[in-house]
Amino acid sequence: MKKLLLFVLTLATAVIPSFSQDLPYAREIINTLSSPEFKGRGYVDNGDRIAADYIAVEFQKLGLNSIANSKTQAVKKGSDYFQQFNVSVNALPGELMIKLNNNLLIPGTDYLIEAGTPGISGNFPVKTITRKDISVGDNALRLLDIKTKTFILVDNRDKSGETKEHSSRTDEFIELLKHCPNKNIKGILVLTNDKLSWEPSSIENPRPVVTINKDLDVNSVTRIEIIVESTFFKKYPTQNICGVIPGATNSDLYILVTAHYDHLGMMGKATLFPGANDNASGVALMLNLAKYYSVNKPKYTMVFVALGAEELGLFGAIEFVDNPPLDLRKINFLINLDLAGTGDEGIKVVNGSIFKDKFDLLSKINTENKLLPKVEIRGEACISDHCMFYRKGVPSFYIYTLGGINAYHDVYDRPETLPLTEFEDYCRLLIKFIDEI
Ligand SMILES: [Zn+2]
Repeated sequence: MKKLLLFVLTLATAVIPSFSQDLPYAREIINTLSSPEFKGRGYVDNGDRIAADYIAVEFQKLGLNSIANSKTQAVKKGSDYFQQFNVSVNALPGELMIKLNNNLLIPGTDYLIEAGTPGISGNFPVKTITRKDISVGDNALRLLDIKTKTFILVDNRDKSGETKEHSSRTDEFIELLKHCPNKNIKGILVLTNDKLSWEPSSIENPRPVVTINKDLDVNSVTRIEIIVESTFFKKYPTQNICGVIPGATNSDLYILVTAHYDHLGMMGKATLFPGANDNASGVALMLNLAKYYSVNKPKYTMVFVALGAEELGLFGAIEFVDNPPLDLRKINFLINLDLAGTGDEGIKVVNGSIFKDKFDLLSKINTENKLLPKVEIRGEACISDHCMFYRKGVPSFYIYTLGGINAYHDVYDRPETLPLTEFEDYCRLLIKFIDEI
């Protein structure tokens, strides 16, 4: 009985390609890319470059060609895979400290300071206003009549009794406070109940903006002590990493698999945004596909692109399509992978309703092979790198996983809590799909 079972199992694994050996590989990539040594893959301490070098070494290990030498095996060094470009970025690489009336706030958990914040150091009075203050008659303008350099604390928590129109006018006024030219408004503190979420910035803002989620008695806050060190780079050199596996039969046509490897980086010296789901997971999935096709030769030429500067504004994708290292018209299909680390509730396919035949194929393969719990359709959405290719006429999907964790653009997007629930089945689905395109 035992022997028979073993025989059946051996037969089963021989017929269906197994990826069980690749989940540890995916874990290793996600753990490494999300580790403190990679600095959140942003623009503090060359986090982006450390990640790019690591991905290039993986490409090299898998025997990928560079685009320039796409028909040969001659990749001499990792940087041969690079497509370099410059971005503008405001980074917060140094000291970061905020005290409200001598109470030290914890960065990352109590507050996030906008990445565009200019350098500042000092002790300033705080004037508190509420959403209700803003909404009374012409009160809002009177609130800006400040004689000394002051931080405005906006208590943004209580939105009760606001009409929709009223609510959006108040939000607009708070935005205006962040950017208006009044020199006496030294900075803005926004007290919120909402989840904190961070974005990198390609510009330097006029003043610090701090979003605080902490149980505070606003009436007791009268002073702020603040230190922020910031650096604005007008031309920060960063890169895409492109690797090629030549096609066995239709080598002049391409299938592109893209995944952005950059994330938000660091907010000061101590606050790391690991970006395990966003998007170490997508890079891990892309590398798994590259690993598979390095052994199982694809029909079309496969091009794997780890795109940079997505979070700053899709700049890596813009660079690729503006200075294309290959003929964009020969891209048969593009799959952009971002947020690949869950799948408890299946996947969502952006552009699914645009390229409906491809969506139907993907969905059919999923049903027939009983892989993911759901394959959901979505229309156009310019929310990740595929968009820049799509606008140039490249047929493309952007696929992301659904369910699982809520961590996103915060300090909680960590490898140890990333479930990778459907990672192997997701990988199997993509291979079967690519093979049938
Ligand atoms: Zn992302």
